[in-house]
Amino acid sequence: MITLDPTTWEEAAKMKNFSGWVRSKLREKMEAAVIAKDKAPEYAAYCEPCDVTAVNKNKWFVEHKYCPKCHTAMKFLGVVE
Ligand SMILES: [Zn+2]
Repeated sequence: MITLDPTTWEEAAKMKNFSGWVRSKLREKMEAAVIAKDKAPEYAAYCEPCDVTAVNKNKWFVEHKYCPKCHTAMKFLGVVE
C-alpha cells in the first residue's frame, strides 16, 4: 500500500507504529479539509433603517438580498471578518 525508498524505510522502521501514524496523519488531513470548508468566506448585507443583517456563503445571493422587513435592496458589506 505504501511505497518507501531506502531513506524513508529506515525512518519508518524506527517508529513503533508506522501504520497508526500514517492513519492519524490522514485523519488530520481529512479533518483540516472539513475545517477549511467551514471557513469558507461569508458575505453580509445590511439594511440600515431596519438594522437587519443578512449573512450567507453565497456572494451573489447576499449582493442581491432584499430586506425581509422593508423589502428594499440591502447594502452589500462584503466578506464578514
Ligand atoms: Zn429594511
